[in-house]
Amino acid sequence: MPPVFKGVDDSGNSIGTNVSFWKAVAAGSKDASGKPLWYKKGIDYWDTVDATDDGVLGGYGHVSSADAKENAEFLRATLGDVLEQRRVGTRGPLVACDCGAGIGRVTSSFLIHEFDEVDLVEPVRHFIDKAEALLGAGAPARADGHVAKNFFAVPLEGFEPEPERYDAVWIQWCVGHLTDDDFVSFFKRCAAGLRRDGLIFVKENNAKDGFVLDTEDSSLTRSHKYFMHLFEERLGWEVVKHRMQKDFPAELFKVRTYAVKPRA
Ligand code: SAH
Repeated sequence: MPPVFKGVDDSGNSIGTNVSFWKAVAAGSKDASGKPLWYKKGIDYWDTVDATDDGVLGGYGHVSSADAKENAEFLRATLGDVLEQRRVGTRGPLVACDCGAGIGRVTSSFLIHEFDEVDLVEPVRHFIDKAEALLGAGAPARADGHVAKNFFAVPLEGFEPEPERYDAVWIQWCVGHLTDDDFVSFFKRCAAGLRRDGLIFVKENNAKDGFVLDTEDSSLTRSHKYFMHLFEERLGWEVVKHRMQKDFPAELFKVRTYAVKPRA
């Protein structure tokens, strides 16, 4: 029997298990294209949010520098060999994909410093437009020559990465919008988008146990055990490393970064 996780909503009311929860989402109302209303509710929420760091971080824009510092350290600890090969010239330009990119905060604070090219994927129009204005072809050229290349205005559940394009797929603070089934199929498509020795990174809030539903933005905060279940059991993948974020405000959820890849 696969493990079962118990959920609560953001007022602390019990809402059953992951199994019954996702079943209800799938059986519930659909939008015009036949997708669960779950997704539309998420987009409708983000449509009302300011295209700023404080907007995409729920008022916590000031954690961005600690976030970027930890990301750079975690990247060195997991993809260090690839970065080194690039530095000494035995590997060509490095490419990353910023998934659920918002206004491109993760790209501008971290990814674009490390990778020659970054693609951004973000379904909310005023966010991806802002990202493109800040980082796209019209923005000032960078001294290191690194560029934000493609701006894809699609949700993760509809994103099909180009095969073998990415050294890193970075998914931060957005995968709670995906149902478990869409999570699994999205990660499989991402794996097809990886280059040799590439990795998929997930940085997310961790619920203490089970999961917590956010009724406002239509997302779910999974526990560490729940993530490990999705990576190791549902996908059958290897979790190369995971690490807790340091120096974040105590009132927030714990935040953990995972580096994952399919088993060879
Ligand atoms: N990763 C960015 C943005 C975090 S805010 C950062 O760390 O700054 C959460 C983001 O998830 C928002 O930009 C929101 O529009 C996006 N999002 C919501 N539903 C999504 C979906 N189905 N697929 C991809 N992104 C989604």
